[in-house]
Amino acid sequence: MPRDLGIADRLRRKGLTVVECDGWQTRGSTDFSPVGYIDHHTAGGRSGNAPSLSICINGRSGLPGPLCNVLQGRDNTVYVVAAGKANHGGTGGWKGVSGNSKFWGNERENTGKGDEPWRQDQHDVAAKIAAALMEGKGRADMVCRHAEYATPAGRKIDSYGLDGNWLRDRVAQEMTAGGVTPPPPDHGGLVGAPAGNIDKIEAENGGYRVVGWAYDPDSWETQLDVHVYVDGVLVPVKANQPRPDINNHFGITGDHGINAWVPPVVKNTIAVYAINVGAGTNVLLPNSNIVVPTLLTGGAGATGPAGPAGPQGPAGPIGPQGPKGDKGDAAPPNTGGGLTEAQAREIARTEITKSKNVPG
Ligand SMILES: [Zn+2]
Repeated sequence: MPRDLGIADRLRRKGLTVVECDGWQTRGSTDFSPVGYIDHHTAGGRSGNAPSLSICINGRSGLPGPLCNVLQGRDNTVYVVAAGKANHGGTGGWKGVSGNSKFWGNERENTGKGDEPWRQDQHDVAAKIAAALMEGKGRADMVCRHAEYATPAGRKIDSYGLDGNWLRDRVAQEMTAGGVTPPPPDHGGLVGAPAGNIDKIEAENGGYRVVGWAYDPDSWETQLDVHVYVDGVLVPVKANQPRPDINNHFGITGDHGINAWVPPVVKNTIAVYAINVGAGTNVLLPNSNIVVPTLLTGGAGATGPAGPAGPQGPAGPIGPQGPKGDKGDAAPPNTGGGLTEAQAREIARTEITKSKNVPG
């Protein structure tokens, strides 16, 4: 886009106090197509609400302004400085994306020397600002601190003392809160067929716990059917468990996680298919077509040895991380996949008489 003329309105819709600095709509280069956000502190003076505002607008010796898109005053007033590209990132990059044309910048008024501890509300407002700036265009994982962006490592320390992962999580919450339109889904070239991944398969209570996710870009609000084949025996489950990390990554809503217990058979081969909706075909989910190395022979309720993790295949579209807060030790009978252990066993026993490893 040329310049981002919607900044002030989006900030106000977040309930923030906004001051539009004269000329902000035409300030900064039109070479601006941002997808991310860099969090800064001004390292400015200790007194006043926004002592760095003039420098951020006009620049300083050797560095022409604007030096940010917005400046967050000490009282959390948001001063809109520039609609176009601003000089704030310098050398560096985040997740393979580099350059001020790709990042909004927020300069937060703070000395950055440790003599001015941040207040929690200042961090909360920074997250709201990031969510407002990126509304419809960026993802929460494209938020970073300048210290995370800048190279060589250690060149920058801002924003002072902040945990970047905390900020990204907080921005993700803000982006899924009411009134924020998710960005267009990024399907990784999988339009048509379901996208998904199996993050782990591990022994649990005489069977196996299958954890992953799947959704169909043709109909991402649909909770997909998932067919787990254990030695070719179908165990139908649903991709219907919360996976906020997946939602944040793809800009979708609803629950699309897989977290299901399936019973063992003899050879311990497991394959997991996501069942297509609309255009496309069923998909064998990455990292799912495996021989589980440890044979567990216990019956219902038996407790097997600590299970081996599934073999680590190539990283899926968003890497191997599991859902946040997943301790992996939920009570086995509560499979979370829409089936109790008893139901899964009954289905497997029924299906073994009529299913002969039909893919999908
Ligand atoms: Zn900075």
